[in-house]
Amino acid sequence: MLNKKVEEILNRQIEREGYSSHLYLAMAVWAECNGLEGTSKWLYAQADEERMHMLKFIEYVNERGGRALITAIEEPPSEYKNVKEVFNKVLTHEQFVTASINEIVEVTLAEKDFTTHNWIQYFVTEQIEEEASVQSIIDKLNLMGEHNLYMFDRDIMGMRSAGDSGE
Ligand code: MG
Repeated sequence: MLNKKVEEILNRQIEREGYSSHLYLAMAVWAECNGLEGTSKWLYAQADEERMHMLKFIEYVNERGGRALITAIEEPPSEYKNVKEVFNKVLTHEQFVTASINEIVEVTLAEKDFTTHNWIQYFVTEQIEEEASVQSIIDKLNLMGEHNLYMFDRDIMGMRSAGDSGE
C-alpha cells in the first residue's frame, strides 16, 4: 500500500507530465502553423513521450494500491516569438520537471518508501537525457542562427526525440 504523502506527490507528477504533454502539443501546433515541419515533428514526438510518462505514473500508483487522479490540465501558451523562445521554454520546463522528480526522491526517503525510491530512478536518469537533448538543440540553433532556420528545421527533422530510444 502506498504511503499517503508518496501517493500525493506521485499524483502531482501525473498532472505535471500531463501538462508537459499538453505544452509540447501547443508548441508543435505553433511550429506546424509557422512552416517548421521538422520542429513540429520533434515536438509531437516529445508530447507523446510525456503522455507515456504520465501513464507510467498512473500505472504505478494504481498497482501499488493507490489511486491515480486525473485532473484538469492548465491551458499552455499557444503563441511564441520564435523557435528559440520555444526551445528555451522547453529547457526551462524540463529543469522544472527535474526539480519535481527530485522532490519525489526526497519524499520517498523521508517516508522510507524504498520501493518507490527505486522505481523513480528511471525518471532521475530520464531527466538527464531530456535536458541534454534540448540543450543540444539550443546549441545547434545558436550555431546556425535564425537566418538559417530552414537548415535547422531540416536537421531537427532527422533527430529522434529523447524518448524515442525505447519505452
Ligand atoms: Mg516527462
